[in-house]
Amino acid sequence: MASDDINLLVIVVDVNPIWWGQQAQAETELTLSKCLDAVMVLGNSHMAMSRTNKLAVIASHCQDSHFLYPGKSWGAGDSCEEDASSSGDGKYELLSVANNFIAEEIRKVIAKTDVMGNSTDTLLAGSLAKALCYINRVAKDHEVGQETKSRILVIKAAEDCALQYMNFMNVIFASQKQNILIDACVLDSDSGLLQQACDITGGLYLKIPQKVALAQYLLWVFLPDSEQRAQLVLPPPVHVDYRAACFCHRNLIDIGYVCSVCLSIFCNFSPICTTCETAFKIQLPQMVKPKKKKLKQQT
Ligand SMILES: [Zn+2]
Ligand SMILES: [Zn+2]
Repeated sequence: MASDDINLLVIVVDVNPIWWGQQAQAETELTLSKCLDAVMVLGNSHMAMSRTNKLAVIASHCQDSHFLYPGKSWGAGDSCEEDASSSGDGKYELLSVANNFIAEEIRKVIAKTDVMGNSTDTLLAGSLAKALCYINRVAKDHEVGQETKSRILVIKAAEDCALQYMNFMNVIFASQKQNILIDACVLDSDSGLLQQACDITGGLYLKIPQKVALAQYLLWVFLPDSEQRAQLVLPPPVHVDYRAACFCHRNLIDIGYVCSVCLSIFCNFSPICTTCETAFKIQLPQMVKPKKKKLKQQT
């Protein structure tokens, strides 16, 4: 029965501490806590729409990704009742429990933040891979005859990382194969990688014009699932930047050299692929060896 289908929404939130720190310093209206409030509003609305709707929230950090909901202690049973008693306002228990969980977990994530090494890029490809694994697990757990429809929503803050290009592409094609939509709600600069992800998987890409209205955009544009979207007038599709970034300088290029083994892209020719270390056979111009004249023995 269609009404028993499980609708799983996985929200991946970019919590890059450097980007959010800059936002806080610039005194813009949107802070990380407001962003998470908006995420909770969307999550609660999604879960309230149907009892078979499920939610997962993943925080994408610098070199780490972390499940905000459901957490590791989720499903222990007794924790549910404890938290539920704290909300005396008649709110649906599941929602207040979920919100408490998310707030608690994000506090842990931010508290243990120590930017190790020099990488300040958000590990988005890793978080998406984690989302796919989770979706796969939920799909395997369902009862016979129940279908699982899953989609991923990325709330993107920091810049793209060209280093993750290949992992990102692998995740996109895996989602496409599994019929999982990837939606993107972009807060700051456009993301070529996410544009491609949305275009390939049939999701929606939206760079929101006003960051402060995040919750509204999430509810209007990203709450409806793919079936409901057919009946809505949504923001027009964006022009997808399909240029690839060269792996050597991370410039966007139209024409370049492609490794025939791993499909890495380079703007300059090099005899050895720096990604997979394949040595290319180079067609050198044929050298015509001069035949040595046999010295005739002089008689
Ligand atoms: Zn290059
Ligand atoms: Zn290669």
